[in-house]
Amino acid sequence: MNTIEYKIYIDNVIRRVENARLKVSPHHIVKIVAISKYSTSDEIKKLYEIGQRAYGENKVQDLKTKAHELEDLPLEWHFVGNLQKNKINNLLDIHPTLFHALDSLELAQELQKKLEARNMTLDALLQINSAKEESKHGVMPELACGTYEQIKKECPNINLKGVMSIGAHSEDKGIIKKSFETTYAIYKQCDGATICSMGMSGDFELAIECGSNMIRLGSIMFNK
Ligand SMILES: *Cc1c(COP(=O)(O)O)cnc(C)c1O
Repeated sequence: MNTIEYKIYIDNVIRRVENARLKVSPHHIVKIVAISKYSTSDEIKKLYEIGQRAYGENKVQDLKTKAHELEDLPLEWHFVGNLQKNKINNLLDIHPTLFHALDSLELAQELQKKLEARNMTLDALLQINSAKEESKHGVMPELACGTYEQIKKECPNINLKGVMSIGAHSEDKGIIKKSFETTYAIYKQCDGATICSMGMSGDFELAIECGSNMIRLGSIMFNK
């Protein structure tokens, strides 16, 4: 695709986001984070040129490499992957805009120690395992509000901004919808939460209709 074709293609993705958000309310704003994990820095540059500013990666090393290669562009970088304790310092070195996958109190406590030592803060979302899947990270729904409050109380250098979830792995739209509704209900209960990050290339319209205000689009943004 040349630049004009790519722009038309992305306009169509944005139109789909628009249609979904308008079903919720004209005041419901949805932010797109382009997940670039399957894409090169050159491909990110092409998407930047047609207006996309927020990008996300799921591996600390890839985030570091691409943020460095593209440091001259005014991009914001999100980290959406599972964070191992031995990678915390590498992630903090990059000063990400938002960490989407804070998935336990233990990880929060480790992060808190490192943040305190560096005298810095980190914006983060609590990851919820809404469909209670073995294969997924995140806090179980019934523990989510308690964990959210505990992190807020014990980890002053973490700014919890809301919740994140990956839709249920299912062909059944009803089951996926239920997982989004579970996440949204937790989001509504968390004190001061402003970000509900859910929805990917295959299910973002459903996620938005369930109240998502931040979608993480990988393959569809890069036409893969
Ligand atoms: C890869 C990834 C995405 C984007 O997935 P697509 O299906 O390509 O849109 C979103 N969120 C997380 C956490 C991911 O790892």
